[in-house]
Order: sequence, then structure tokens, then C-alpha cells
Amino acid sequence: MAYDITLIPGDGVGPEVTVATRRVIEATGAEFNWDVVTVGAAAQETLGTPLPEAVLESVRKNRVALKGPVTTPAGSGFRSVNVALRKKLDLYACLRPCKTYPGVPSPFQNIDIVIVRENIEGLYSGIEFERGAPETARLIEFISGTVGESVLPDSGISIKTISETGSRRIVRFAFEYARQHKRKKVTAVHKANIMKFSDGLFLAVARQVAGEYPDIEFEDMIVDNMSMQLVQKPHQFDVIVAPNLYGDILSDLCAGLIGGLGLAPGANLSDDMAVFEATHGSAPKYAGLNRVNPMAMMLSGVMMLHHLGEGEKADRLEGAIATVIAEGKNVTYDLRPEAPEMAVGTSQVADAVIEKLRGR
Ligand code: NAD
Repeated sequence: MAYDITLIPGDGVGPEVTVATRRVIEATGAEFNWDVVTVGAAAQETLGTPLPEAVLESVRKNRVALKGPVTTPAGSGFRSVNVALRKKLDLYACLRPCKTYPGVPSPFQNIDIVIVRENIEGLYSGIEFERGAPETARLIEFISGTVGESVLPDSGISIKTISETGSRRIVRFAFEYARQHKRKKVTAVHKANIMKFSDGLFLAVARQVAGEYPDIEFEDMIVDNMSMQLVQKPHQFDVIVAPNLYGDILSDLCAGLIGGLGLAPGANLSDDMAVFEATHGSAPKYAGLNRVNPMAMMLSGVMMLHHLGEGEKADRLEGAIATVIAEGKNVTYDLRPEAPEMAVGTSQVADAVIEKLRGR
């Protein structure tokens, strides 16, 4: 049976890593009808919107997508396509496993942490007030009149929202994941000592939900302490659940523990849809150079195969990737810090993984 999958190549290094990934996934023997769609600046230019309705329709219909990174202009220009896609499709859970493979150049070995990031709320709510806009002045006046806090008139404001509903479902997702994957502990990350009404609510709900899972250990940690603990004693962590921005930052920190962004996969999940994408962005300076590591995207493909119920093919693909890493010959520059001149390119990594899949 061929699976209908929406393929969003993205931009920057996206097209290169998605082609490499498509090749290795197909080499497992799984069959796909790819619906290739365009988002971001290219869609903005040709269709007048960075996230065309047809893209959302395609994902809604297929229920599974494989997505490359998409550039978001910083400071001005269109809003993040990635954030909009997650919000419009209610992809509330971002699942990011961070695992070291033998042979990876990293000061740490045997890391096996799963980050569950709330994907829709928090500081990513997209509710923003521009410096100098009339509505910003009204908001500043409202704040001063109601809570008696003065905000400088030349401020820009981003609103952080955390709901009981959103917190409950993400923490539940983390505990369900832990139970299904025989994980022992869930750590909830927050800054509830300072942000009592947003992070405080997240923490209160996390404690409540934890009570429903007596078989799984629960702890909470303030995000600044968490950052230090992750660097000093990462092995104490198992499943981490965090509000949006902390989850985002800690994902990159954990990617750093396991050898870099070139090895950090991910999935954005709703109750009935899944968009698989690496943690990394579009790395524009490497675009079109056939240089970056496609393995983060390939490992996102492994997650997709598991999601489709193709566990055996997923395991074979992960095994092939792990073998290429362990041999250390056909890997990109990020995995050869001692001899970057010996590194191979993105497409050669795909060739090497396919050779392993074919048993050569
Ligand atoms: P980035 O993740 O694109 O790159 C940061 C650095 O990490 C790169 O310069 C490179 O050194 C390294 N890196 C990233 N991917 C790699 C890979 N596959 N192999 C080897 N090294 C790799 O982060 P950035 O430069 O901050 O962001 C670039 C753009 O990507 C921005 O427009 C940002 O908004 C966007 N972005 C998109 C997504 C997404 O589509 N989900 C996620 C993050 C960032």
C-alpha cells in the first residue's frame, strides 16, 4: 500500500535534506504518493501568501506530512509559517527525541532524552503589539489603569498565554508517551516563581496530571536551573515537558548534547495529524551547497515510519543511519570536527545510508 503524504520541502537547506530523506525512506521499500507543496517566501511571491490554504487542505486530507525548514524573516516581513501551520492544524505537541549514537563527536554519551514541547501557546501565541501603534498605546494605558504598572510608551509587547486546557493536554501527552515507551520520569519545566499566572498555572496542572500516573516519577524544575543541570548532569533526565519557548530553547540545547542540530529529529502532532520535521532551521548560509547533515531529517522520517505502523522499516532505516555514523567515513562536516576536509556532502550521506539498507 502506498501512503499519501504531504511533502513540504521548505527553503534554505530544506530541499536538499528532504530529497535525501525521501530517497532513504523509499529505499526501505515503503511506498508513497508525495503531494509536494510550496510555502514560505516562494509561495508569498507566486500566490500572495506564505501559507496557502491548499497546503493546509493537503495535510488535513493526508493527515501526515514531511516538512523541511522554512525561513522566517527576522523583525519584519511575514509571520512564521511554521508557527501558523502548527496553530491552524492544532499540532499542539512537539516531540523531539535527543539520543546519542555511538561515534558521534560529543562530550556526552548515552544520552536518551525526549522533549515534549507545547507547540501553540506561550510566547509563541503570535499576539503582538508594535512599538508606536495606537493599539499598543491603548494596551499600555489599560495596563497602567488596571494593574498600576507603567510600561514605557516606546515598548513593543508580545503576549504570553498559557491555558489550563493547553497545559493539561500537553502534560497528559508527555505522561502517555512516557507510559507507552516505558519511560520512568517526567520533568516539567517552568519559571513559576516569577510568572505565577502563566507558568504557575502550567505547573499546577502538571502536578495534578502527574497524580493520575503514579507509575511514573514526576519532578519540576525552574528553566534556568534546568539549563545548567542539562549541561552538567544530562543523564538524570528522561521525558521533559515544557511550555513553548522553553521547549524550543531546550531542544537546541539537547541537540548540542547529542552532536548538534544535524542529528535532532522531531514531530508536530495533533490528535489525528502529524507533521515530521527536524529541529533545525533553514541554515541559509549553507543553502544549495550540499553540505549540511540530512540525518536530523532522516531520523524525522524514521519517526514518520513508526507513526505509519512501519516499525520494521523504521528500525532498519535507523540502523543504517547509526552504522553510517559509527563508521564515520560518509558523514558531513558537523560529525568530522577533527577533519572537516574529509567530510562528504548531503547527497553522499543519502547514498551511504541506502548502501547500508541494501546490505552493502
Ligand atoms: P538553523 O537551525 O537554521 O541553523 C543554525 C546553525 O546550526 C547553522 O548555521 C548550522 O551551523 C547548524 N545546522 C543547522 N542545521 C544543520 C544541519 N542539518 N547539519 C549541520 N549543521 C546544521 O537556525 P537559524 O540560523 O537561527 O535559523 C535560520 C532560519 O530558519 C530562520 O529564518 C528561522 O526562523 C528558521 N527556522 C525554521 C525552523 C522550522 O522550519 N521549523 C526552525 C528553526 C528555525
